Formats: sequence, structure tokens, C-alpha cells
Amino acid sequence: MTRLDGGNIGQPEGVPSGEQYIGRFAPSPSGPLHFGSLVAALGSYLDAHAHQGQWLVRIEDIDTPRVREGADSDILRTLEAYGLHWHGDIMWQSQRLERYQEVTSELSKQGLIYHCQCTRKQIKALGGVYNGHCRDLGLQGQDLALRLRQQHPVFSYQDRLQGHVDIDPIEAQEDYIIKRRDGLFAYQLVVVIDDIDQGITDIVRGADLLIPTARQIGLFEQLAHRAPRYLHLPLAVASPGFKLSKQNYAPAIDQTNPQPALLDALRFLGFQPDKELSQATVEEVITWGIQHYRSEALTQALEVQVSQDSNGQTELLTL
Ligand code: GLU
Ligand code: ZN
Repeated sequence: MTRLDGGNIGQPEGVPSGEQYIGRFAPSPSGPLHFGSLVAALGSYLDAHAHQGQWLVRIEDIDTPRVREGADSDILRTLEAYGLHWHGDIMWQSQRLERYQEVTSELSKQGLIYHCQCTRKQIKALGGVYNGHCRDLGLQGQDLALRLRQQHPVFSYQDRLQGHVDIDPIEAQEDYIIKRRDGLFAYQLVVVIDDIDQGITDIVRGADLLIPTARQIGLFEQLAHRAPRYLHLPLAVASPGFKLSKQNYAPAIDQTNPQPALLDALRFLGFQPDKELSQATVEEVITWGIQHYRSEALTQALEVQVSQDSNGQTELLTL
């Protein structure tokens, strides 16, 4: 494949040259795409394409009480409207319960899983971190949570953008929940199984997952797979300290007029799009983004705040 960038983009640090790059975007269909998720989608798309990689899409519909009907197809339509076309077949977590059960049973056979009856309230009273209370109680029962005995605590890791990330040692060593008491598999388990099964080599996503990533790296080790590289993008906030999210009803981005939000997302990531791009097609904007992509130039810290006017137009405010 020919390089698009004249050769100044190497593989991400530590990627043997010639190794295939496989990235992904993994939205939860709890509502339409908002500006914050557009930033994650665009950042991961550009990183993948700048490395001549593939960009896969996975619908993270494991947390069924939070799934909104039709949100998955709405998200996919939005990605297409923004010129973010994916490779291959989409993966739906809701179709993979057998696979998650298979891995859970395997871990269970190895004696790595136990039932826990602690309530959220009890754990909160302990300061928020589970203290291993049920580890050796040998509890059984349908309506109990399953925890993984933490054999691979990760105390720090290297993020491509954020640099060295330290984890609170108490949190790193916590036996965490892999299946909830309501019977749903936990995100922390399924995301790693999916990343393994999709052959993901590089994850680019929002910094809200900076700390949970350590557990995911530990789980890759537990499952005897090499962890991918990680790059955590700054979060767009609705107001200082509050990330834009479907939970705080961040408005959907416009499907019919994608250019303004797309250019804002580029600016948010630290690009300085040329003036002429405001007249360009979505495809031209995306191509420009791939050509001008340099991971070192991405905005590292939260520097801008996003607001949206009543017409759904995003506005970037410098904090
Ligand atoms: N589904 C998660 C979200 O929408 C992203 C998970 C991930 O990228 O690993 O926030
Ligand atoms: Zn317990």
C-alpha cells in the first residue's frame, strides 16, 4: 500500500514494522453520537488510516438496560454521514454471550473466579474499593456477582499520548466484577475478549477509560494475549469537569450537515484545518485529516470546552 503522508508517520512506538495495524471504535448504543463520541471515532479512524491500518466498529450493547432501541443503526448512519467508513463486519456484543460464557467457564475451571454477595453500599462504606471479603467464603448462588481473583495487577502503563499512567495500587489489586449480579457480563471482561477476537493492535478512545485500561491490560495477560497499544484522547466537556455523555443528554450531532462538527472535532484534536476546508466535502476533510495526522500533535490535555447552541451547532470555548 502506498503511504499517504510522505513517510513521516512511523508505526506507533513498539510496533514492529510490517505488522498490521487493527484499530476500532466501540460505541455503546445508549443514544445517538454526540460531539464527544465523534472525537473518539475520528481520532481512532485517523490513527488507523495514518498507519495504513484497518478500522473496525463494534457495537457495545452488553449493558442491555442502557441500550436504546434503534441507537445502533442511528450511530452507524452518523458514522457514514461523517465519512467514517469501517472495514469488515460489525461485531455486536449481544450476539457473543456464548463466547463470554466460554471464557468465564475457563477462568472458573482455573479457580480464578468466585461469587460475591457484597452490596454497592457495603463497598462504598469501605471507601469504594472492594476488600476481598468474599474471596474465600465459597459462596454459590444465581443472584451473586462473579469476581476475578486478581493475579495480574497492573500498577502503571505507557499511553501513547498521556505518557506514563500510574494506578492506585489498591485499585490495581482489586478483585473486580466480571459478571454482575443481574446476570450481565461486565464491560471490563467483554471488551478484552472482543479486542482479542477482533485482533485489535491499537486502541484510541476517550480519556475516561485511562484508569480502567490497567485492568484490561492485566486481563490480556491473564488470557495469555499481548495487550494492544493505547492512546487516550482528551474528553470534550459540557462544563468544566463534566464530560459530554449520553447520560447527561449531550445533543446528537447533525447527520444532514456534518462539515461544521467534523471541522470542530479536528480542531478539538489539535489540528488547524485550512480555511478552504470549510467548503470541502466530508471525504475531502477526512483525507486532509489522514494526510496531516501526527499523533504527537494531538491535544493531550483537556483544553477546550464544547457547548452547543439551540440549533445543535457545536462551539469550542477555550477554558
Ligand atoms: N463503549 C464504550 C463507550 O461508548 C467505549 C469502550 C472502549 O472504547 O473500549 O464509552
Ligand atoms: Zn463480597
